[in-house]
Amino acid sequence: MEPTIYGVTHMRLSRYFLPVLKETPREAQIVSHRYMLQAGMIKQASAGIYSWLPLGFKVLKRIEQIVHEEQQRAGHLPMLMPTLQPAELWQESGRYNDYGREMLRIEDRHGRDMLYGPTNEELITDIFRSHVGSYKELPLTLYHIQWKFRDEVRPRFGVMRGREFFMKDGYNFDLTKEDALHAYNRHLVSYLRTYERMGLKAIPMRADGGPIGGDYTHEFLVLAETGESEVFYDSAVTDLTLGDREVDYDSVAQCQAIFDEWTAPYARTDETHDDALFVEVPEERRRTARGIEVGQIFYFGTKYSDVMGATVDDGKGNKVPVHMGSHGIGVSRLLGAIIEASHDDKGIIWPEGVTPFHCGIVNLKQSDDEADAACESLYDSLTALGLEPLYDDRDERAGAKFGTMDMIGLPWRITVGPRGLKNGVVELTSRRTGESEELPPQEAVAKIARIYEGIA
Ligand code: ATP
Ligand code: MG
Repeated sequence: MEPTIYGVTHMRLSRYFLPVLKETPREAQIVSHRYMLQAGMIKQASAGIYSWLPLGFKVLKRIEQIVHEEQQRAGHLPMLMPTLQPAELWQESGRYNDYGREMLRIEDRHGRDMLYGPTNEELITDIFRSHVGSYKELPLTLYHIQWKFRDEVRPRFGVMRGREFFMKDGYNFDLTKEDALHAYNRHLVSYLRTYERMGLKAIPMRADGGPIGGDYTHEFLVLAETGESEVFYDSAVTDLTLGDREVDYDSVAQCQAIFDEWTAPYARTDETHDDALFVEVPEERRRTARGIEVGQIFYFGTKYSDVMGATVDDGKGNKVPVHMGSHGIGVSRLLGAIIEASHDDKGIIWPEGVTPFHCGIVNLKQSDDEADAACESLYDSLTALGLEPLYDDRDERAGAKFGTMDMIGLPWRITVGPRGLKNGVVELTSRRTGESEELPPQEAVAKIARIYEGIA
């Protein structure tokens, strides 16, 4: 397990910056927004625009890391495009006007029209046409994780519907429709794995093309009462998991089989919902619910390559427009979605895959020599194993320390007090179940190490 580079140095609460709020923030309508503010993860800068405080930033980076790992596992290449784009490219594609008021338009000092990118199809197509001319360089999938801006009419729910938000967007370039559909399936599989690693059940559902266009598109939805989309599905789809099966992302057959498995049960958003098909699902498995869109994949063919002249030599002497798709994951929205899916009335419950710290250490009697020494020793043992504990070494009441730990949602807590130490034990508590066990400090360390083994 590799420690993240964002926060290995300040894991003692007395030296951390964790501005936990005592009062319930009134502006928050849903629990994820409320808890992110209360746990000191974000601070609103203006409507739909947030600063990411150290704890929030750490989770954001963990989620980003998982997205990178799964994209690269699928063979997709990371890069970085700018946030500001020239208007000309969007005039070329015809979307400069279509995008309407959601696009933030900026004029630079020379009077040139610029925009803060809401997405990157134009920019990536321009890169492609400048550098790729032959089928021999295909298939190619490039992606980046970058801030986007959409001037949403109603930014709300904290990072769930922000104006500035962090998004992974990837673009595949293929010679034929068939190849591009393999890329589509490959993205579907990599997304399933990505969300599973975050402890989420995200269901791919047939969706509508919208302004990006295209007939092939699926949205990934996390079921939650506070979700903005109405969804209809066969409950059989929620039983599916990838687990640790090996996937060869180059195998057309394997990716197709997984696509078929996940898309066989009925699952659609209200945009494409079809009552006639839905009634064919056995009644006891028919579900209507709400969901949060955490990603979407598209195949849109030659829509952009036609108008922007992105062609390749097909090896038979023809210049043909390249087949493309685009694939997005709402990286910052995922924090909200995970909290909506995993919390209780005391606070957040982070799944192990995304937790900002692997476990908390609560010292019940700060400045007691024995208790302090035991906590330091636990802290050292855990960090030596590459784990990141958060040690609450503040001079605070036990109740306040527990309250903070419960709110920020670390999945495991080790509680150290003079009474237990007399018997040679500490207490290990699961945030999710609330169950505790007493065990010698080194056994608690070993148990935590085992839990995180294989979680990466
Ligand atoms: P929505 O329907 O929620 O407005 P979208 O379909 O317009 O989203 P996409 O263009 O598919 O969004 O963007 C890819 C992903 O980025 C979405 O699946 C979503 O998770 C995330 N996303 C989109 N808009 C926002 C936003 N305003 N704030 C946070 N995340 C967003
Ligand atoms: Mg979408």
